[in-house]
Formats: sequence, structure tokens, C-alpha cells
Amino acid sequence: PPSFSFDFDTDHFKGKVNFSTGLFINGKFVDGSDNTTIDVINPTTGKKIGVVAEGTPKDVDLAVAAAQKAYDTVWGLNCPGFQRGKLLMKWADLIEEHIDELAAIESLDNGKIFVDAKGFDITEVAATLRYYGGWADKNHGKVIETHDDKLGYTRHEPFGVVGQIIPWNFPLLMFAWKLGPALATGNTVVIKPSELTPLSALRCTELAIQAGIPPGVINVVNGYGPTVGQAISSHPKIEKVAFTGSTLVGREIMRQAALSNLKNVTLELGGKSPNVIFDDANLEDAIEWAVHGVYFNHGQTCCAGTRIYVQASIFDKFQEKFVARIKAIQLGDPLKTGTKQGPQVSQTQFDRIMGYIEDGKKAGATAIIGGKRHGTEGYFIEPTIFTNTKPDMRIVREEIFGPVGVLVKFEDEDDIVHIANDTMYGLAAAVFSQNISRALSVAHRLKAGTVWVNCCNQIHPQLAFGGFKQSGIGRELGEYALANYTSVKTIHVHLTGKK
Ligand code: NAD
Repeated sequence: PPSFSFDFDTDHFKGKVNFSTGLFINGKFVDGSDNTTIDVINPTTGKKIGVVAEGTPKDVDLAVAAAQKAYDTVWGLNCPGFQRGKLLMKWADLIEEHIDELAAIESLDNGKIFVDAKGFDITEVAATLRYYGGWADKNHGKVIETHDDKLGYTRHEPFGVVGQIIPWNFPLLMFAWKLGPALATGNTVVIKPSELTPLSALRCTELAIQAGIPPGVINVVNGYGPTVGQAISSHPKIEKVAFTGSTLVGREIMRQAALSNLKNVTLELGGKSPNVIFDDANLEDAIEWAVHGVYFNHGQTCCAGTRIYVQASIFDKFQEKFVARIKAIQLGDPLKTGTKQGPQVSQTQFDRIMGYIEDGKKAGATAIIGGKRHGTEGYFIEPTIFTNTKPDMRIVREEIFGPVGVLVKFEDEDDIVHIANDTMYGLAAAVFSQNISRALSVAHRLKAGTVWVNCCNQIHPQLAFGGFKQSGIGRELGEYALANYTSVKTIHVHLTGKK
């Protein structure tokens, strides 16, 4: 199978990395069954840096068979929860030991800045696996009273083999959000990383072997959506599929699941999150959070606060300071000290975002900052803010998934709740106010899976995350995610057995 070799000589990480980039099936790295590969591109330069094996539907069959065998022999009901938990925690420890290397790989492959890759992505990967390691022996059913001559209780049983399909924006973190609860509850997994960012998952899989997670428990099949992805969502022997990605593809996953074996589906999809800033907010703090809300991870964040609504009496002051703050964002090599924004992930995403920017200009909105490509190499786009927008413009309604926000004035509380909720999405929202009654009453009225008060884009493994409306089905993280990976079995005992 192919391998990836790279000599990092950067401000943050120096050293050679070398690991296999085959498909990982039944505990071994192997070639794809068609012997084809997918190019790995560095978005900072637009140049090819390596290849990974390309999977096919046949490889998905092999991975499902390996996962089924592992489920039936060494995992699931054959491996006590505390043992699964121990392995997940060992894996988390190894990930932390390799945090600089993993962050550098993520930064190279995805373009995210190293300090975020290390301080957020990989840190949260370890925290998530450890958190679910803790749950592995604590997710039990209930004894339920009915009649005196009955004993009724429930068991939370794993599905068996689950399929998982993840996006490129937080490659390793999405891997952990999916694997943590699935493995803790005893399932075995066939997972497809995004074809745009396959590297970190493969390196991390080597660490899973080192941690002692048995062969067949985790199977990684790299490949494209319409081939490997579709083979997972339509596979007759996969009982459950969990997907993170766009709403468009989420719909297709659900369709394939329905048309095949009616598999259980959870979806984490797109967003167009409102960020509501009232006139009694702490202005300086709100500006810092608003910048983080829209530009964190170069705007490639499903919960990005891209619709920024500011109350009329502070609008002009906010705009002036906000623009000045955005001007200070330094674009460049994500592996260099001081860089605050790296490239978008791919040429396709770059073109898509520039298309939205052009569309916004043509529709009559004003780019008060940004609106152009940055530099001549790689996929860099200036942080952009539009004003003079209208509610029906595409830049206001559609997920752009890049460093582009709209800044809009609002008058009062009732107006803003209506405007903020006027979207097909419902992933997240933020409210800024020093008045706790106002902040919380608005938080309760916003239709979103997460509402941040006086902050943005905050995630903890303990707190559920997921969408209302067309932003998804089910919840990741927290205790809630355990339900994504278990079926409730009721045991109904008649104590006398007499009819
Ligand atoms: P995408 O939907 O294009 O791809 C996601 C994954 O699905 C990839 O692995 C892709 O190969 C696969 N895929 C594509 N077509 C498929 C098909 N027909 N069948 C099966 N699989 C298929 O999304 P993306 O561009 O990788 O990621 C960006 C999107 O993900 C954004 O919309 C973003 O909001 C969303 N996202 C959501 C969350 C969340 O938690 N809600 C988190 C991260 C990203």
C-alpha cells in the first residue's frame, strides 16, 4: 500500500513523519481493490504532496465483513465496557503524546492554523475519546415497574457494524466524535474520511493499533462519496449510518438508508447561524467573539456565526471597530507563527466561496472589507463582510462555508427573534447581552440546537451538539450521543409464568 512521508521544518513542528496511507481493513493497511489512489493536495500551495489508496464498494464489503467478525468475537457483547473504556483512554493518551505531529499533519492537509489544530482539534480529539471511554461501562438500561408478578428491564445494546461518513473541516475531530461513542457502546465501525483530508485519520489509526484496539474494530475506507460513501449508506449489513456533512448529501444518505435496509440514521448537517448582539452587550468582547464566530477555521465551521445582527443604536460603532479588528487578521502559511487564517481546503471550495462573493456584489450588497483572493498561490480568501444585504439574498440565506459574513442592523427583540429564525437551518445561534433575562429569554426563543450566550463556537465533549430543522437529526457529544449507537431492548419476565 502507499505511504506518506513528509519532512516538516516549520516554526511549530520539525521532524519527519512517515505512515501508511492504505485502506485500514481488519487491522492491516492494504491497497484498494482497484489499485487506484487519490492525490493529497496541500491547500497552502495547491501542490500534490502524496497519495492515499482509493477504496471501492468491494473494499466496503471487506471492511464490513471484518467489522462483523470483530463484533462477534472481540468487541460488542464479547468485550466488557470497562475494557473498551480502557482502550479508548489509552488511545487518547497516545494521541496526546503525538499532539504536535498530528496537529502538523492536520495543518498541512487541511490548511488550518497549527495553533488551532493543536489547541482545539487534537486536544478535543483526546478529550472526546477519554470522555466516551468513561461512559463505556456506565451506559446501562433501567428496571421498570409494571406489575408485582413481572420483572421488566431494558438493555442498551450496540447495533453491531455501524457506518460513518465524515467531512474535511475538522478531519480528526469528526473522526473522534464518531468513533468515541460508537466504540464505547460496543459497535464496530467502517468509516470514510473526506477524500480531501484523509491523512490524520490514518496516522491516528496506527495509534489505535498501538493502544491495543483489536483488528476489525475500526476500519477506515478512504474514497469518494458516490462510491465508498454510497456503498456505506446503502449497505445491507450496516444497521446504522452516522453522517456529518452538507444538507444536500445528508438527504442522499437518508434516501440510500431508506432504499436499502432502512438503517438507523443520524445526521449532522449545515448551518447559517445568527449572532445577535444587543445594545447592552460588552462591545469589545462581542467583537472578539463575532470575529471568532465567523472566521474560526477560515469560516469552514458548520456552526459559524455568519449572520451578524447588531442593534441599531450601537451598529455604527460596532461596524467601525469590527472592521478594524478584521483588518488585523494575518493570512498566510498555517504552520508559521503569527498566522491567524490559512487557506480554504480546496480549489472547489475556493471557487464556490468566490462565486458567493461575486453573487453578493451583483445582488447589490457592499463588501465593506475583503471580497478578494489573497495572494497568488494556494486557496486564500480575504476575510469578508457584507452590508446592505436583503433577507432574500443568497449570501444571507445559504451556507457559504468560507470567511464571509453579513452584518445587519436590527431594531428590537421581537424583530430579531423572527429574523434569526427565518432560515431552513437550526444548528447554532449566539446572543450577546449583559442583561441575563433578555439573553436567556431570547436564547429560549431561538430555534437552534445550541445557543451560546456571550460567546461563540464553544464545544465541550459533555455538551450535546446537533441541529434543529434541516441542520440534522440526533445529537453528537454528551450522554445524548450514546443513544445514536444503541438500540433499546426490553426484557419482559413473567415471574410465575402462569397464563
Ligand atoms: P459533503 O456533504 O460534501 O461531504 C461529506 C462527506 O460525505 C465526505 O466524506 C464525502 O465524500 C461524502 N459524500 C459525498 N457525497 C456522498 C454520497 N452521495 N453518498 C455518501 N457520501 C457522500 O460535505 P463537506 O464539504 O465535506 O463538509 C462541509 C459540510 O459539512 C458543510 O455543510 C458543514 O456545515 C457540514 N458540517 C456539519 C457539521 C455538524 O456537526 N453539523 C460538522 C462539520 C461539517
